[in-house]
Amino acid sequence: MKSMVLTDGPLGPEQHSLLEYPITPPQADGSVVEIADGLLWLRMPMPMALDHINVYLLQDDDGWYILDTGLNTETTRQLWLTVIEKHCKSKAIKGVICTHFHYDHSGLATWLTQTFNVPLYMTYGEFYMIKTISSGLASLGNDHQLDFYHRSGLPRKDVDAMLNSCRKDPFIKLCPPSFTRLREGDVLTIGKRRWQIVIGEGHSPEHACLYCAEDKLLLAGDQLLPHISSNILVTEMEPQGQPLKYWLSSLEKLQTLDPNTLVLPAHGPVFREMHLRAKQLIQHHLEQLDILRAFALQVTEFNAYQAMKHLFKRSLSPIESMMALGETLAHLNWLESNGDLFCQRTNDTGINSYLSTDKIKEDRITL
Ligand SMILES: [Zn+2]
Repeated sequence: MKSMVLTDGPLGPEQHSLLEYPITPPQADGSVVEIADGLLWLRMPMPMALDHINVYLLQDDDGWYILDTGLNTETTRQLWLTVIEKHCKSKAIKGVICTHFHYDHSGLATWLTQTFNVPLYMTYGEFYMIKTISSGLASLGNDHQLDFYHRSGLPRKDVDAMLNSCRKDPFIKLCPPSFTRLREGDVLTIGKRRWQIVIGEGHSPEHACLYCAEDKLLLAGDQLLPHISSNILVTEMEPQGQPLKYWLSSLEKLQTLDPNTLVLPAHGPVFREMHLRAKQLIQHHLEQLDILRAFALQVTEFNAYQAMKHLFKRSLSPIESMMALGETLAHLNWLESNGDLFCQRTNDTGINSYLSTDKIKEDRITL
């Protein structure tokens, strides 16, 4: 449940080079970089392809707020204790803000809020996702989930490998008992800065970004990343969901912020040229949609697994397959709702199959 490191092509190095990276990133070893007065950038390590998450410390008059937590691992816990002792200079931790529920962003929400006895700030949708997944590990591999993957055409051995990988992942096992709700347009005044909450959708249900218009700073979480494309995922929880539609409109919304904003993302370096980056990400998904439209014209019918294999050519680990399949379904759902594809959900195999509506109109396929 993290960001996608699968894509290249339209999001390759030549696209990254068009952005501006004014600050050298810290190592994921407790080192800290001061981005602006009272705004510290540090990195927590992650034992996976995406090897770090950026987290931030925001200084208030009498203490500090933590933005995003890192994974629920012993290494991250120790790093937090070291960093807080060294850099917060005996000022209290006042609160923990999580941009969204993914385990690299909120995995230590319970530990941090309990250790420092402080509130957790999240949106309603994200808090309830933590509540759901923290109680959902035991039901991993339930009948509904197995049916979802079967309908996608995923071979059973791949499903089992995926579920086994999930069981080993640093899942969130505990949910904090309460939270303070963040809403679109809310303002958090921390020190001399006023941070406005800007909600994004698509990568997660109600992702919070924090925007300081006066200083042109955006704490972007996973809503705008410089080097990779955030995972846009359809899961068994909402098989007919339209995350791509809302992801694209969220990227449009970010282009209404000041174009000279310095973006502080959750992964990769701090960067400028956020409008260009939003456009690149939109373009990437439009190209993925075009690839699937062309695929639908080449073949008579296909399932989601076959579409995934067409979009993601390289071999994928079980967790990467889960993300790639969810991402493929997000694009297929968009094409279906847009009238480009027809999805047959009732047939003998129990596997959903997709057909090009253009072909159907031309009477080249009989249903
Ligand atoms: Zn995320």
